[in-house]
Amino acid sequence: MTESHNNPVVLTSTASEPEAAVLIAYLRDEGVPAEMMGGLTAGFRAEAIGYVQVLVRAEDEAHAKTLLEAFNRDKPEIDWSQVDVGEPEDMAEVPFKPTCEQCGYDLRGTIANRCPECGWTMNADFEHKLRQFQKDTI
Ligand SMILES: [Zn+2]
Repeated sequence: MTESHNNPVVLTSTASEPEAAVLIAYLRDEGVPAEMMGGLTAGFRAEAIGYVQVLVRAEDEAHAKTLLEAFNRDKPEIDWSQVDVGEPEDMAEVPFKPTCEQCGYDLRGTIANRCPECGWTMNADFEHKLRQFQKDTI
C-alpha cells in the first residue's frame, strides 16, 4: 500500500455517486482537490453500499467545509430521477461478499458465526447469506 493521498479526511458523505460527483466538481472549481470513496470506486471497499464519502486533503479541510456550506445553501434543487447516470444499479442485487463487514477478512471458509480475525459477530442475515454462499460454491 502506498500513500496516494496527503492525509485525506472525510469532508462529508452523500447518498449517491452523482451527488458526490457534483460536490467534487464544485470543490475542484474552487481549487480544492477532492475525491470520492465508496460506490464504484475501485480499490476501496465501500463502508456501506450506496454511501459515498467525499475526501479532501487535511490542509484543505477548513476551506472545503466553508465551500460545502455554500454548496448546500446554493444547491439548486436537482431532480435526480431526471439526471442520466447510466445504468441504474439495483442495490438489492449487489452480489454477496463473504468478507467480514468490519475488517474485510475472507469468511468463506468460516464455520463459526464470528470473524476469526477481529471477532465481529455476523448478523443473522449475513450468516444466512454466507451459508448459502458456502453451499453454492462447494
Ligand atoms: Zn473481521
